[in-house]
Amino acid sequence: MGERSARRIGILGGTFNPVHIGHLRGALEVAEQVALDELRLIPSARPPHRETPQATAEQRLAMVELAVAGEARLRVDDRELQRQTPSFTIDTLESLRAELAVDDQLFLLLGWDAFCGLPTWQRWQALLEHCHIVVLQRPDADSEAPEALRDLLAARSVVDPQGLTGPGGHITFVWQTPLAVSATQVRHLLAQERSVRFLVPDAVLAYIHAHGLYRAKTDS
Ligand code: ATP
Repeated sequence: MGERSARRIGILGGTFNPVHIGHLRGALEVAEQVALDELRLIPSARPPHRETPQATAEQRLAMVELAVAGEARLRVDDRELQRQTPSFTIDTLESLRAELAVDDQLFLLLGWDAFCGLPTWQRWQALLEHCHIVVLQRPDADSEAPEALRDLLAARSVVDPQGLTGPGGHITFVWQTPLAVSATQVRHLLAQERSVRFLVPDAVLAYIHAHGLYRAKTDS
C-alpha cells in the first residue's frame, strides 16, 4: 500500500434553498484559509413546517450539485437527505467518521450565531471528539461567547486555522465578510418575478426556471 497523507475535509450544513453565491464564495474562501483538501456542502432535511414556497429536497440537492460542478474542492454530501427528519450534527459526524481514515481531519464550519447555540445541541460535548470547529466570524461581530462556552474556548482555541493538527478537538476562527445575499432574498425576488441573475450560478438559475421554483403562486 502506498503512503497517504491525512485529508483535511470541511463540512458546511445548510438548507441551500436555494444555494447562492454567498454560500459558494464563503465556502471557497474558507477552503483556502483553512487549507482544506475538500469542503462538503451538506443540504439538511427540513422540518415540514418551514415556510413555502418550497423546493423539494431532491431539487435543493440538484441545485447544489450544479453549483459546485467544475470546482473540485467543493463537493456535495447528501447523507442528511437520506432521512426524512433533520439530523443531529453529532450523528452526521459519526456517520462521516465511519467512512474516513482515523487520521483524516474533519472541520465543522459554523457561523458565530450557530456556535453560540452549541450548548443546546444534542451531545454537543462529543462534537470535538470527531472534528475541529471553524467558527465563521464576521469582522463587525463583537458579541461575547456565552458563559457555557468560555471554558471550552479557553481550553480548545487555536489561533492559526492552518495550524490545526490531528483529526479534531480544536476550535478556530476565520474572519469573513459575507456577501450580502441570502436564500430568503433570492426566494422573495423570484416570488416577485424579479431577476436573481448573478446571485446564483447560471446553472442554478436555469434549473430554477426549468422547474418553476419559488414562484409566487406556490406561496402560502
Ligand atoms: P435563508 O435565507 O433561507 O435562511 P441562507 O441563505 O442563510 O438561508 P443557509 O442554507 O441557512 O442559507 O446557509 C447555510 C450556511 O451558509 C450558513 O450557516 C452560513 O454559514 C452560510 N452562509 C449563508 N449565507 C451566506 C453568505 N451570504 N455569505 C457567506 N456565508 C453564508
